[in-house]
Amino acid sequence: MEKRVYKFSEGQAAWKELLGGKGAGLAEMTRAGLPVPPGFTVTTEACRQYYRHGRRLPDSLFAEIESQLAWLEEERGQRFGDPARPLLVSVRSGSVTSMPGMMDTILNLGLNDETVEGLARLTGNPRFAYDCYRRLLQMYGSVVLGIAAIRFEHPLEQLKEERGLPSDQDLSAEDWKRLIGIFQAVIAEESGEAFPQDVRIQLRRAVEAVFRSWSNNRAAVYRKLHRIPEEQGTAVNVQAMVFGNMGGQSGTGVLFTRNPSDGEKRLFGEYLMNAQGEDVVAGTRTPSEIARLAVELPDAYARLEETAALLERHYRDMQDIEFTIEQGELFILQTRSGKRTAQAAVRIAVDLVQEGIIAKEDALRQIDVTHLNQLLHRGIDESEIVRVFAAGLPASPGAASGQLVFDADMAEEWGKAGRKVVLVRTETTPEDIHGVIAAEGTLTSRGGMTSHAAVVARGMGKPCVCGCEELLVDTEARTLTARGETLAEGDWISIDGSTGRVVAGTLKLREAVISDELRTLLGWADEVKRLRVLTNADTPQDARKARELGAEGIGLCRTEHMFFSPARLPVMQSLILADNEEERRHALRRLLPMQQADFEELFRVMDGLPVTIRLLDPPLHEFMPKLEELLKRREALARAGASDSEEARLVERLIHKVKLLHETNPMLGQRGCRLGIVFPEIYDMQAEAIFRAVLRCLHESIEVHPEIMVPLVGHANELKKLREWIDSAAEQVLGEERRSCAYRVGTMIEVPRAALTAAQIARYADFFSFGTNDLTQMTYGFSRDDAEGKFLTHYLDAKVLEDNPFQVLDPDGVGQLIEMAVRQGRQVKPKLRTGVCGEHGGDKESILFCHDAGLDYVSCSPYRVPLARIAAAQAALRERADCPVPEAIPTG
Ligand code: PEP
Ligand code: MG
Repeated sequence: MEKRVYKFSEGQAAWKELLGGKGAGLAEMTRAGLPVPPGFTVTTEACRQYYRHGRRLPDSLFAEIESQLAWLEEERGQRFGDPARPLLVSVRSGSVTSMPGMMDTILNLGLNDETVEGLARLTGNPRFAYDCYRRLLQMYGSVVLGIAAIRFEHPLEQLKEERGLPSDQDLSAEDWKRLIGIFQAVIAEESGEAFPQDVRIQLRRAVEAVFRSWSNNRAAVYRKLHRIPEEQGTAVNVQAMVFGNMGGQSGTGVLFTRNPSDGEKRLFGEYLMNAQGEDVVAGTRTPSEIARLAVELPDAYARLEETAALLERHYRDMQDIEFTIEQGELFILQTRSGKRTAQAAVRIAVDLVQEGIIAKEDALRQIDVTHLNQLLHRGIDESEIVRVFAAGLPASPGAASGQLVFDADMAEEWGKAGRKVVLVRTETTPEDIHGVIAAEGTLTSRGGMTSHAAVVARGMGKPCVCGCEELLVDTEARTLTARGETLAEGDWISIDGSTGRVVAGTLKLREAVISDELRTLLGWADEVKRLRVLTNADTPQDARKARELGAEGIGLCRTEHMFFSPARLPVMQSLILADNEEERRHALRRLLPMQQADFEELFRVMDGLPVTIRLLDPPLHEFMPKLEELLKRREALARAGASDSEEARLVERLIHKVKLLHETNPMLGQRGCRLGIVFPEIYDMQAEAIFRAVLRCLHESIEVHPEIMVPLVGHANELKKLREWIDSAAEQVLGEERRSCAYRVGTMIEVPRAALTAAQIARYADFFSFGTNDLTQMTYGFSRDDAEGKFLTHYLDAKVLEDNPFQVLDPDGVGQLIEMAVRQGRQVKPKLRTGVCGEHGGDKESILFCHDAGLDYVSCSPYRVPLARIAAAQAALRERADCPVPEAIPTG
């Protein structure tokens, strides 16, 4: 017959399937030499037998339990049911997968009318003994016999009322004794039989009841929700009771081995003297800080400190521990890895390395990178949130409070006047950029995580909540309504871009901190990662920030963002409006020095690191006012009798041009290299500006590594043609001063055809940069601006898709294209450099994919750089064979 009951000292951590999580943990702690109250585990296999046996314990199984009980009696020097030296035990469930609170527990088994007197005599504390007994009657009554809890709670309340005493603490031994009589009567009345005085019957019934609780309603619902297999079953742990309520030398508490808020190495927790576990949780008495225990019970405190250190060394992590002190002797009831803030997580990981408890690699593995966002951005003090005004998508982390404004101009005006503003729009367009810059944060009612507002805000490290569809934005009335509340322009509002919550009014914010520990950890990440981490930066400020955060160059500079400032947009528009060579040249002559200055500054900031400049990508209409606005302006001019004015003529030309530029589906229209080929002068100007900036930097002895990137290539001939133009611009400009400079010309791979024909395209490319935003959009056929606000959320809720493919790279579809393109490209050019510059470059899962696919780099917005560095290190560690073997279990 196979063994179905194991002493804690016989089990091991790896036997979770057999012993359940709790049983395996108790076994591990016992083997580690920790002061755990002794006991044994009845296996999950025994649970399955109980069910197969018609929901009864087979006698042979109970015989096994009894034989372990005999051992336990020896071990404790007590006997089960012996009034002279009564052994009491707890019977607890413990499933393989943790199912907190779903199954039952019974404490103080082994008490009856005689042993309770023994316990009272032995402890000299009748009050304690009667209290334990009435707790047993109550738990046995409800768990084993299924009697409603109220049948016990009610008499207790009545008794307190009668005695005029508010708390359980105030009841005397006599009171508890009276209640024991009442509870026994309740049991007899409700179940038709007396509470068993035979303690072995108590034990048998209790074990059966815990097995039975596996199939109670709440456990069944929980299992379904968490997909826990029905046939797994629960183990049962029978453990000697220890008492924290045995007088002035006893107590109970919980502690963290380090401070879970800031990570400081110091015991952190609380305890109650002369109390049981549930008293600490119930909050009826105020616990003392753990440090006081050093004064109250110095020996126990010293043992606790020692044990905490041992537990940390053993589990190689900060622990959350439940303990009891019984008459001066310390017992550990439970330990697990403690929950902690992001700040504490970083500090603890680094400290554990420096204390020699874990290796650097473990510290890097331990960090939950998504947590890092909390550290790099301001956050909301959670206690401040009383009511949420609305909730949208957490598009760019960080929190902000400011006065509501409804357009970008107003945001800029108020911002200049020193006011803090939050810009609210239905959705933002590139024309709103100055408002986004001026605002503390942006809130939109439409658009998803990769919508314009989200991308721009992330790039700037500013908070943004997008796609908040429950908001009613009335830009005419200048009001914002949600959940029955309306705010007006100038009212204060707060947004939390890390969670998507919007709150009316101002909130206290927590500042971002880049601690020394985080810097240390990032340094370790750089030592092990293989992927280079570049940044997406369009301005010198972004570039500076990114370098500070450890970027190794610029992987994407979206040059279109350079044309949206109020000084430049009109020049860009005049270029688009130009209908003759002269006008076009004039506009370009004005744009060229501006672009050149932009690039010079980026080269200076990056000082020797690569700077990848992408030639203009968006369709031209994005630089033009909206048709509705122009029509309104025309109407207003007509009403003012100014239809003949200079302005009216300009408006007419703009209307004409906007209509000409109109496309049904601009994302598939005349943009990217298609624009560059049809209007060569724009790319010519950009190429010339780049090489003139190179020349200037060479004069200043600044090292420059320009990389020029062509967007939206789908056919090799597109790149072939544009590469020739770029090379000839370089030759011409650098040739003027007989200077030379190594530069690269590459392409974005963001149209599926480009991935499919990568071998042809690679002939003209020095690098491939996967534009995974467009590549996802075009592979799935999902319009990124619309999908998230419409069906994609539904898809995610209904689990049609597991992840949002615009956030987490789709490995099966888009990923396959990437792998194929890399393979084909490298067959033609073994040294072809490859990377990702879409939003996925800052997402952990996607970074793991990029590493595995053999890419050379990822590029992400500046504030994601630290996250990417650690994720890249985690990717490298995943495949390393030399990861350190866990330490042997300490025995002292
Ligand atoms: C992309 O498509 O992934 C990309 C980086 O370009 P953009 O987001 O500017 O279209
Ligand atoms: Mg793109």
